Amino acid sequence: MNVLKFGGTSVGSSKNIKQVITILQDYSEKEQLICVVSAIGGITNKLLKAGELAQNKDESYLSKFKEIKEIHFNIISELIPNPKESVLDYLESKLHALKNLLDGIYLINELSPKTSDKLVSFGETLSSYIIAETMKQQGINVVRKNSQDLITTNSNFGHAQVNYPVTNNNIQFYFKDANQKITILPGFVSKSLDNEITTLGRGGSDFTAAIVAAALKVNRLEIWTDVSGMYTANPKLVKQAYPIKNLSYQEAMELSHFGAKVLYPPTVQPVLSLNIPIHIKNTLQPDAEGTVISNEITNGKAAKGISNIDDIALLTLQGNGMVGIPGFSKRLFETLAQEKINIILITQASSEHSICFGIDQNDSFKAEQAINESFQNEIALHKIDPILVENNLAIVALIGDNMKNHQGISGRMFSALGKNNINIRAIAQGASEKNISTVIAQKDVKKALNTIHERFFEDQNKQLNVFITGVGNVGERLVEQIKLQKKYLKEHLKINLRIIGLANSRKMIFNDSGLSLKSWKTDLESGENTSLKAFLERVKELNLRNSIFVDVTANSDVANIYSDYLRESIAVVACNKIACSNDFESYKQLKEFSKKYNASFLFETNVGAGLPIIDTLRNLMASGDKITTIQAVLSGSLNFVFNNFNDQTKFHDVVKQAQKEGYTEPDPRIDLSGVDVARKILILARESGLKMDLEDIENHSFLTKANLESDSVDDFYQTLITDEAHFQNLYASAKQNKCQLKYVAELKDGKAKVGLKEIPVGHPFYNLEGKDNIVMFYTERYTEQPMIIKGAGAGADVTASGLFADIIRIGNN
Ligand code: ADP
Ligand code: ASP
Ligand code: MG
Repeated sequence: MNVLKFGGTSVGSSKNIKQVITILQDYSEKEQLICVVSAIGGITNKLLKAGELAQNKDESYLSKFKEIKEIHFNIISELIPNPKESVLDYLESKLHALKNLLDGIYLINELSPKTSDKLVSFGETLSSYIIAETMKQQGINVVRKNSQDLITTNSNFGHAQVNYPVTNNNIQFYFKDANQKITILPGFVSKSLDNEITTLGRGGSDFTAAIVAAALKVNRLEIWTDVSGMYTANPKLVKQAYPIKNLSYQEAMELSHFGAKVLYPPTVQPVLSLNIPIHIKNTLQPDAEGTVISNEITNGKAAKGISNIDDIALLTLQGNGMVGIPGFSKRLFETLAQEKINIILITQASSEHSICFGIDQNDSFKAEQAINESFQNEIALHKIDPILVENNLAIVALIGDNMKNHQGISGRMFSALGKNNINIRAIAQGASEKNISTVIAQKDVKKALNTIHERFFEDQNKQLNVFITGVGNVGERLVEQIKLQKKYLKEHLKINLRIIGLANSRKMIFNDSGLSLKSWKTDLESGENTSLKAFLERVKELNLRNSIFVDVTANSDVANIYSDYLRESIAVVACNKIACSNDFESYKQLKEFSKKYNASFLFETNVGAGLPIIDTLRNLMASGDKITTIQAVLSGSLNFVFNNFNDQTKFHDVVKQAQKEGYTEPDPRIDLSGVDVARKILILARESGLKMDLEDIENHSFLTKANLESDSVDDFYQTLITDEAHFQNLYASAKQNKCQLKYVAELKDGKAKVGLKEIPVGHPFYNLEGKDNIVMFYTERYTEQPMIIKGAGAGADVTASGLFADIIRIGNN
């Protein structure tokens, strides 16, 4: 004999019911079967809703009733095209009784727990009838038996306790002589000793099946549902979750108690002592392996799964009067017991100064009233404070029998949460160490589950969620590079890089499953209007783990908002130089926030585009080296200009060409005035540990007064034409001295300067071509020969790849 239970979705449509019948027929060739069924998916909720409406004198209970009736009649007509009169009569009579009950609730506007049980019992009664009749029509040897005649309980309506001696007797007696191949039983419903309808609690059909399985000591209990087993986390919240092959009874109990709805928590109890394995299977994918829950020790991972309970309130009773005085907890828990309030989690500080516990948020007001009343004397005497209630919380628990044998699990769990800015309000770790529970804000649940899941169950896979502002030249290249490399990153670096948000100065778009990298351009056109604040709010709201904000603009408003991201533990990657070259205090604060909130702040592309200059500098410093001198050509644009300018060309035309090819800032004066280079050497000086501001950098401009005083870009170009002779003079002088013109930045003895220099033959800068950059680091270790980094220092592609490298650095972090 075998007991199989099919849940709401499994019997939720005629198609699924046909599938259930196929599964039962397959099995019944080998053995006798007992099949426990739930109400048709969603019906229990609809019945409760109809009851609530009727109780509130809202006549729309009638349309709810109509909906319920239609669902059942539609399913039967799809299953049995020409049903017997008696079948339709039975359904009509049951639905008539249901309608009468709802009318009664409406009339007296009252819905007691007792009536509520009567009401919801219609769900399983109707579904079991429909399924059994369909099978009979197909000539299957089937009998439907009402579980209310078998399962006897006390009168705790809504959550009745089973009277096992009577129940086991009933079941054994009935099945002793039952010789039908298949018996259909409605789940969830039962009867009290005085013959009133009771129920076993929401989700209780699993329990019905376990009670029957245990009473008959069958070999196996199968729970057929809409997912392929018990998953490492709720698959609706964690996409990467996967079914767990084997679990111990304890693990399954912990996971279900802490929210894994796939198994109703009391289900394990009856079968545990008899060692009857529970097999969780998927009705919609019967070939999937599923999960086996048994006594067998498995050598799998230490942590087996994560579960969550939503809508928790945390209550804290505290006060000096509690210390050392026994009996406080006893009185507290008695008070809660009297109010029938279930305590989900408790933590008590060893000082005994406070006791903190988690309950269902729906009970928090009742608990608050009852506790304050029970302790009113102590509160009046200021021995303890009125109870403190915090709502909108949730519990996330990591579970596994073997966790006790592995060190550092809680450390890994908490640090993963901390890195993602998830604040832990309370922690409870059972003495058995099978369960580490944390209380966190409800809004963080999805992120916490995914973060912990990634840390413990995804073989070092890491998801990076990127938000990009600025999709001009460089931004566009970055998106393209990400698109091309996505597969490689996944396969080789185990990084799942997703672009979640994109914005230009006009429009922005988001998709929390990742934007399409094929159609992003057209999608962006029809996005919502951009605002920096709205963008930030969306990033915060989405609350995804490993979020990275990427600034590909040259906009100071964007730079001013980095701190808001860092404060949320969201990493910032910028090619925008403004933040790091503004006043020293704001630069310092960003660095501090990055440390404090554990969020990377990377800006490699600020100097030398994609060249690893800042990273090298940081590595030198981290290894204990000291920078003594930096000499560099840091402007790809100026290098391009002076490499192309000679007595055959015009300075104006060369600058225009540089701008056209994307080597200058949108305003070329920023490059030509030397400000851009000054900012870069400033950033290197700061990164090498110096406190310096832009004003501290000596800047001998090679531009004329007229160039510098121009008040628009057009005006500036005009002055270049007028002052052509000045530039030709610079060229002629260099030529005469057999030198090349290079715009050089230098940091020496704590002082920095930038300016145009004539570089003689043989100097490493002399042959610097095109738009290349070069940096020479002289350090305490590199004294004679500097460490040199040289290569393309401007251009959309290399800048984008520098940004990309920063993103990957965060991924590897
Ligand atoms: P049934 O109606 O078959 O009893 P339930 O809805 O009660 O089904 O339980 C199955 C659902 O439990 C799944 O669809 C899933 O959304 C949810 N669930 C929550 N946590 C888990 C988990 N760890 N593993 C599998 N399912 C889970
Ligand atoms: N139909 C009941 C419920 O929805 C029992 C069950 O499906 O297990 O709670
Ligand atoms: Mg269920």
